[in-house]
Amino acid sequence: MRAAVASFEFEGNSLSLRVTTRADFARMGLHEGAAVLQAAEGKDLALTGGIKALREAGVKVVPIFAAKGGAGGHIEDSFLGEALHRIVEGIAAALPLDGVYLALHGAMICAEEKDPEGAVLAALRARIGPAIPIAVSLDLHAHVTPRMVAAANIVVGYETYPHVDAYRTGACAAGLLVRAMRGEIRPVTRIRKYNAIVPVLGGATLGDAPMAKVAAEARAMERAGRALSVSYFPVQPWLDMEDVGITGLAVTDGDPAGAEAVAQDILDAMYARRRDFELLAMTPEEAVKAALRMEGRVLIIDTPDSIGGGASGDAPALLAAILSHAPDVPAALAIVDPAAVRHAEKLGVGAEAEFEIGAWQDTRWFKPVRVTARVERLCDGNFVYRGGPVAGATGRLGPSAVLRVGGLRILVASHAVYEHLDEHYAACGIDIGACKIASFKQLMNFRKLLGPGVDFIALHGQGGTPLRLQDVAWQHRRRPYWPADDRDVPERLPDSV
Ligand SMILES: [Zn+2]
Repeated sequence: MRAAVASFEFEGNSLSLRVTTRADFARMGLHEGAAVLQAAEGKDLALTGGIKALREAGVKVVPIFAAKGGAGGHIEDSFLGEALHRIVEGIAAALPLDGVYLALHGAMICAEEKDPEGAVLAALRARIGPAIPIAVSLDLHAHVTPRMVAAANIVVGYETYPHVDAYRTGACAAGLLVRAMRGEIRPVTRIRKYNAIVPVLGGATLGDAPMAKVAAEARAMERAGRALSVSYFPVQPWLDMEDVGITGLAVTDGDPAGAEAVAQDILDAMYARRRDFELLAMTPEEAVKAALRMEGRVLIIDTPDSIGGGASGDAPALLAAILSHAPDVPAALAIVDPAAVRHAEKLGVGAEAEFEIGAWQDTRWFKPVRVTARVERLCDGNFVYRGGPVAGATGRLGPSAVLRVGGLRILVASHAVYEHLDEHYAACGIDIGACKIASFKQLMNFRKLLGPGVDFIALHGQGGTPLRLQDVAWQHRRRPYWPADDRDVPERLPDSV
């Protein structure tokens, strides 16, 4: 048996001004043909898990295309066109095939096309016909659309946040695909959706967190034999579209009504806990003052400027607060500002000068912070991720500089790059273990750094990834929606084409 594999992963954000181009995909990973297998080799990617499961079942894997773009605002429509063409025509050229596995994120947006994954899957289905099973793995934050579900036979989402199960999810989707290819099952996928969004930060699945309980219910439904696979999608909430909302999904063996019932039940399990996903948060000033009162080290999470959620990574609000309230405390803060990097490079290591930092790309909420700093170090900004969904891949901050002001080390980077743990700091010689305060522009992986003597504070405020979703001036999201409106029976969103 032969199965084609491809990946196309990007997380969009309607509130972000970042536009991701073909060059950004090329920097983060863009491969075709046999190079796809080399790129996936030894990683923790969904694609890697999918390939492994297919091979273990004796299936010949035909690699087509792989593109990874991280997160941002939207991607250029021209690159969607290119990727769609390469995936669809590449797979068509590989016929005859017994199955197709695609690793997608599921929350991609373009300037024009608001459902790129739906467009890719619909075009693929039209091209290869109805007989060949298509399996898809998605991120937990996917915006699952009826068009995607109509074109695919099998859809499986990550179940963990932080995302530590991309590999396992790919293997699960491909495992069901193998069973479908052998004719052992006839999988059907159904979704149910509510007009509700929940804060990403409150959706951790660690310990007995509320979303961990949703995960446990999904696994219990599978164990009870109600479905082959059950997924829940708290959804990427910063998508300003009227069809975006939390989603339940189930795959059953030839039982559409059963899949609908299970999708409804897991969706209700998530919605019932909606208040539990809300978290306490502080302004930057409150957070810095509180950190100084706390024992041990404190990670301050710049929630409204999360690079992994698509924000620009250039918000300087926390920088200003540290300079005002904790100027001599050992601290580390990373921020994106290529002009400040160029300024530091021109000055050279050891020079002291005035810098304007931050708010260069996204000027809607903040002004740059003016600071006199010494150039402590210049670096190339390359590092290897030690874990998470991109484990083993190279992160490229681009040319970077470490600026020193009192106790604070500011890591100024050229590119907004997904943060996992402290790899980006370590690559530029900053030891966050020696810092009372270390800041992060990410919402999930920091939890792996917590423990005895290490606590965290989340920020609220304005930005591309704000915590308080009801405060956003949505243009397309319709009322009533949670959390602006609280209904016991929320409004359903369309779940079939
Ligand atoms: Zn995610």
